[in-house]
Amino acid sequence: MARVLVVEDESAIAELIAINLRHAGFDVVLAASAEQAQAAIDAVLPDLVLLDWMLPGASGVELARRWRLAPRSRELPILLLTARAEEKDKITGLDAGADDYLVKPFSPGELLARIRAVLRRRAPMATDTVIEISGLRLDPITRRVGRGEAECRLGPTEFKLLHYLMTHPEHVHSRAQLLDRVWGDHVFIEERTVDVHIKRLREALLPVHCAQLIETVRGAGYRLTHSAPTV
Ligand code: CA
Repeated sequence: MARVLVVEDESAIAELIAINLRHAGFDVVLAASAEQAQAAIDAVLPDLVLLDWMLPGASGVELARRWRLAPRSRELPILLLTARAEEKDKITGLDAGADDYLVKPFSPGELLARIRAVLRRRAPMATDTVIEISGLRLDPITRRVGRGEAECRLGPTEFKLLHYLMTHPEHVHSRAQLLDRVWGDHVFIEERTVDVHIKRLREALLPVHCAQLIETVRGAGYRLTHSAPTV
């Protein structure tokens, strides 16, 4: 379930958005000011932020700029909401780092379609697309993982870890980044927890000859590679 942070100070609009998103299966977190939004980001990184332009404290555009500069939130998908419809305002919003721009008033249907489009582009892990790499297949809806006819048995954490690695193949991820993106918490879990789950994941992938897809990169972290499995 994708987690969406809704940053909107007008509570009636925030509630309406929240109802529509929850109905569509999203996990919704609300923030009514720049300060609350920053606190929410510091706690758990969402899969996407719906960010209102006009906020008490810093503006949505200032927040977007700030998040793009911070390594931890640099890749955060941001959909900017605003009543401004002039071209120069759209350019300002997109230049600040927003992935897309939605002018109020908008229909719930358009909002959901834009969210899905941004997630497909920026956060494939938050969508239900089946992924296949070197014969290893992962289906987020049925939660089945396997190769050919053979299936693997994965625990929930190993499933999330594999899903994240498969949606970001060839990237090297540090333990801290994996805790942040997979566990959703970068502060309260020890980094060696990642090693434990990587070991379990490799063991689960052994029967389908895919354990070697998960590579250890010395001094850096882990990576899922495209290299063909050996049978
Ligand atoms: Ca506002």
